Amino acid sequence: AKDDGGGEHRHYEPALHANAEERRQLEFALRRALENRELELNYQPVVNATTEEVVSFEALVRWNSAQHGSVSPGKFVPIAEDTRLIVPIGTWVMEQACREATRWPEHVRVAVNVSPEQLFEPDFAATVVNALSASGLEARRLELEVTESIFLRDASVARSSLEQCMALGCTVALDDFGTGYSSLGYLRKLRFSTIKVDRSFVQGAAQDSKESLAIIRAVVAMADSLEMTTTAEGVESVEEADLIRRLGCTKIQGYYFGRPMRAEEALQLFRRRHSD
Ligand code: C2E
Ligand code: CA
Ligand code: CA
Ligand code: CA
Repeated sequence: AKDDGGGEHRHYEPALHANAEERRQLEFALRRALENRELELNYQPVVNATTEEVVSFEALVRWNSAQHGSVSPGKFVPIAEDTRLIVPIGTWVMEQACREATRWPEHVRVAVNVSPEQLFEPDFAATVVNALSASGLEARRLELEVTESIFLRDASVARSSLEQCMALGCTVALDDFGTGYSSLGYLRKLRFSTIKVDRSFVQGAAQDSKESLAIIRAVVAMADSLEMTTTAEGVESVEEADLIRRLGCTKIQGYYFGRPMRAEEALQLFRRRHSD
């Protein structure tokens, strides 16, 4: 109850005009970002809550703009979505993530964020097929992360794309669970393999919020009975990790186990762990 969770979604900004101008400039630069090779992927480890072994990495896009310096995805992804630039950017992300994941041990999977704009393109499944065949990555190693917001529109296009990807062997995770419009009905409509519990609940639970604790317990119980796993997001300390483990989450992601890192570092982290 301490977090209103709405901080990123305020629609009335006092400096609206300055922001509109900044936005126009970012949009202009973003149009050139792909061809100028200004985008890069970072990878954040996700660990098994019990064994603490790395089970996957989440690919997180980074933009190092010649004009604007490093721009956070929280800022440019919404612009990319509004302008539909997220479609070509998302295709690049998918291809790059699959390519880089082929360098990891075979049991390590890669999770790629997929925007609703991408899912409502009729050829989304084809871009996944292409990324897999171009890289040679096995489909079972690819997880697609989607948010509840896809169910705000007529979800039939998105559902059928995701079902095609699942037929290939990919899995689908439900990201930022509990932060959007939560009608639980959609859990019956798609076979998610994982529910990602948003960081706001993890923080709340760590601050002893009864509501957050109850919600995490309920999500874990529900996921168990639906044969889904749970990933707790944004775990920053040993105390939070212990609490999350006690609450029964399957996997943990957060700064405590590793920040998003460059592909080379991810590879090295791996070589270190395995030469122990
Ligand atoms: P997300 O998918 O919920 O990704 C998790 C975010 O939480 C990442 O922020 C990550 O760096 C951050 N995070 C992870 N552990 C911790 C922690 O312990 N503490 C805190 N405070 N933060 C933590 P990032 O990389 O800035 O990305 C923000 C959002 O941008 C993502 O949220 C996702 O919605 C979007 N995004 C990032 N990459 C992509 C992409 O390739 N495609 C699309 N469509 N969206 C992306
Ligand atoms: Ca995500
Ligand atoms: Ca998330
Ligand atoms: Ca988030």
